[in-house]
Amino acid sequence: MPKTPESLQPDQEVNNKNEEIITPERVDLSEKGTPIIEKKDRILTGMRPTGSLHLGHYVGALENWIKLQGNYDCHFLIADYQAFGDYADNISKIRDSVIEVAMDWLSVGLDPHKTTFVIQSYVPEHAELAMLLSMIIPKWMIDRNPTLKAESATQKDVSLGFYNYPASQAADILLPKANLVPVGEDQLPHIELTREIARKFNRMYGHIFPIPTALVGRVPRLVGIDGKAKMSKSLGNCVYLSDSPEVIAKKVKKMFTDPTRLKATDPGHLEGNVVFTYLDAFHPDAAELESLKKKYTEGKIGDGEVKNILAELLNAFLEPIRERRAFYQAHPEAVREALLEGTEKAKKVAAATMLEVREAMEITGYEDIKNIKKIIEK
Ligand code: ATP
Ligand code: MG
Repeated sequence: MPKTPESLQPDQEVNNKNEEIITPERVDLSEKGTPIIEKKDRILTGMRPTGSLHLGHYVGALENWIKLQGNYDCHFLIADYQAFGDYADNISKIRDSVIEVAMDWLSVGLDPHKTTFVIQSYVPEHAELAMLLSMIIPKWMIDRNPTLKAESATQKDVSLGFYNYPASQAADILLPKANLVPVGEDQLPHIELTREIARKFNRMYGHIFPIPTALVGRVPRLVGIDGKAKMSKSLGNCVYLSDSPEVIAKKVKKMFTDPTRLKATDPGHLEGNVVFTYLDAFHPDAAELESLKKKYTEGKIGDGEVKNILAELLNAFLEPIRERRAFYQAHPEAVREALLEGTEKAKKVAAATMLEVREAMEITGYEDIKNIKKIIEK
């Protein structure tokens, strides 16, 4: 069953210091005619535009985002700068993917009127803050990051930009002064780093940033259709939110079940059974799923039949997503508006934070003749 926002699990490890969540400063932009900050906690989360989104993105992140969007001031970032870290030789792929991600977000029901979609590279303050934060992040803190280690292992020639992406992600979160960050499990080391760096910055220069808390989704890590630990574009083991019913049927047919089971009357095993992992994630009726599991373990239903049930469920789940996608395909101006209006709002928030950061760090005052005289006459 889908869970309500109240039942979202704040990450234990990240939260174990019982630290009070500091609410962000409320930036009053009303004099500019856009009172965009309401009395709500702010969420920042995002995705890298490196292709279409898949079921892992949905259960690990998007499902939460949809539930949170009405109750929080949500900023959803399309992190194209971050994607350049490993796609600098293929910028056009990233540019196309910015639109694909926006289409996927709109199709799953993220509402640009309730939330703020942000194109990272159109708010260059992200780069400025990332650079400044990287001055106070010890190198060993990046070296020990397990997610970065695992991702670097799959790359031939890791760029400095890629290596530095945890700093960039900390800047993404801190720039809008977010205090909640809904993410998949693989992102927790990055949130931990963000918290450490926010505390360090506040200690060194004065209190500017709230200490953000991670929220992990219902399915922290969805396995791939090949049974590998994570459904991931780069592993080629995905069911995409944009897959057609025919493609879904084909992919489900290929999924692993119980390798020890030779015929339908053999008792089936559920553990490590990819089809049942997906049924656990997507079956809307817990009682029905229980009885299906019972039949399977008693050898009363064949693998083919179970796969048909899964394919049907996935198609039923994707149907409303397909309908919304068709709407936005017919209305490209709505996609443009979602991206540009959100980004415009984010620019104002970013400018206000960077003003505070520059003042706190005392990177100011060169325009003041008094300061120049003071030094010259010393
Ligand atoms: P891919 O590995 O497919 O390239 P990604 O890791 O690049 O995807 P990100 O933009 O880094 O995608 O992640 C976006 C969000 O989706 C993150 O919060 C991440 O934890 C979550 N996520 C991605 N894949 C999965 C998965 N298989 N299960 C659960 N959450 C996932
Ligand atoms: Mg990732």
